[in-house]
Amino acid sequence: MIREISVNEISDGKRYSARDLVRLGCHGCQGCSDCCRDQGTMIILDPYDVFSLCKALQTDFQSLVRSGLIRIQIVDGISQPGLAVRPYYVFEEQDGRKRPRRMDCCVFLNTEGRCSIHDTRPGICRLFPLARLYENDSFSYILQKDQCSQPDGSKIRIKNWLGIPELARYEDFVLRYHRLLQAIRPSAEEYQDAEYLRKLNFGFLKLFFMTPYHTKEDFYPQYDERVLRIRGI
Ligand code: SF4
Ligand code: SF4
Repeated sequence: MIREISVNEISDGKRYSARDLVRLGCHGCQGCSDCCRDQGTMIILDPYDVFSLCKALQTDFQSLVRSGLIRIQIVDGISQPGLAVRPYYVFEEQDGRKRPRRMDCCVFLNTEGRCSIHDTRPGICRLFPLARLYENDSFSYILQKDQCSQPDGSKIRIKNWLGIPELARYEDFVLRYHRLLQAIRPSAEEYQDAEYLRKLNFGFLKLFFMTPYHTKEDFYPQYDERVLRIRGI
């Protein structure tokens, strides 16, 4: 999701690469799952996330949508999938009485407050409390301040924090997917054309998500092959 905000406002102002050591350790998230709650109406997924999830759960995108684990919503003008959230209630003392307060948490957060798909969690979850900063047709990592509930832990190299195999290939994919979203984002005039939007969004979802990936094969060539077909949507 695109956010137009000042980097200095939300971070320490530094740009990091995956090789950098950053104070990211969060004491093993002991007893905490705050970043899995109240993070909006869904946790956005990219094609690599969907590929990894389908591979780990031995399922396909359509089944995940049908079972309510993935939902689809318009983000920055384009239909995108995300992990669904479900209501969750905490009881807080108010005027001497315990009152329920609704929060939304990710559907994969289990009753012990742990991620049930930790080894295959989406890129956005792996990043937290980092974020990606896109500028000059590239991206770097920034450390968001006041986001993690247990900050100031040990220094960790970003590539270890992310724990993604073949990180250079992944980062190349991330940048190219970002460019793709930018390129197909509807203009102000296209926003007025309901038929154009319908075709664009259906075509995008079908090409990059609904058409199953071969989960026993390498993800990246499959993604590249779909990019070549984008003109058809
Ligand atoms: S908010 Fe920080 S400590 Fe809490 S679960 Fe997320 S990363 Fe871990
Ligand atoms: S996938 Fe896991 S880490 Fe990500 S929000 Fe859901 S429960 Fe939290």
